[in-house]
Amino acid sequence: MPDGIDRAAELLAAAHHGLALTGAGVSAESGIPTFRGEGGLWTKYDPVKVSSIDSFLADPAAYWTVAKQRGSVALKAKPNPGHLALAALESAGHIVAVVTQNTDGLHRDAGSRHVVELHGSGRTVECLSCGRREPRSEVQARLDVEMPPRCLSCGGTVLKPTVVLFGEPMPQAATEEAFALASRSDVMLVVGTSLVVFPAADVPLVAVRSGARMIVVNAEPTPFDRLAEVVIHGRSGEVLPELVRLIDE
Ligand code: NAD
Repeated sequence: MPDGIDRAAELLAAAHHGLALTGAGVSAESGIPTFRGEGGLWTKYDPVKVSSIDSFLADPAAYWTVAKQRGSVALKAKPNPGHLALAALESAGHIVAVVTQNTDGLHRDAGSRHVVELHGSGRTVECLSCGRREPRSEVQARLDVEMPPRCLSCGGTVLKPTVVLFGEPMPQAATEEAFALASRSDVMLVVGTSLVVFPAADVPLVAVRSGARMIVVNAEPTPFDRLAEVVIHGRSGEVLPELVRLIDE
């Protein structure tokens, strides 16, 4: 059993307003590559070239060529035991919500009901001209014949996934909700995030400043480990189900 897991279970069992913040690491065991860390996508691509709004607008076909490849993995991915454990923690009242940086939709698939998507959703795309939205799965199906994909309604205009690219503003409602939840939280469970993307990484800082105890579950050390009461270095798909089991004992 990883060090600290008993204490983490005690903290969560006693939480009145527990909150989880998740990142790409929680979906790694579903087969979706992270950005950073071992096997991370940024060892293969330049993030600014691939994931910034300026480069998207300059060359949407280059963006969609990478997105086509990543989408074929993400759209088929299924929740792993880490996602399921977070849904179980919410059902049992140990956390009130999951704030996620992920755009893959797997928390809702796993049964989490209160999910705040800080960086949008990769399950839909939007026309930058007329605003019409359509499911990403339908666009994915026509990428073999249309690159970049065009709006079916107003024609001609390029479609963009409803995710927040570097250089784009954060969604206001989700951001405000995440910080409001953090300021009320008494236990902050941080899972599978390198905590280097802001303002998402401010969520646990606001929680700790508001008096929350922090638990970090991550494969590698994070910059905020020193602020945490419990740090567990391990895979979320193994650590989180074990935490749930200990709380239920
Ligand atoms: P990140 O890639 O920067 O960091 C992931 C962290 O997870 C790393 O520290 C790594 O050590 C850890 N990790 C890897 N496998 C793990 C596992 N099995 N269990 C626990 N920890 C594990 O991700 P981030 O902090 O979320 O920030 C990067 C941005 O990446 C976010 O804005 C997010 O929108 C985007 N992103 C999302 C997805 C997705 O939706 N699944 C995938 C890649 C990137």
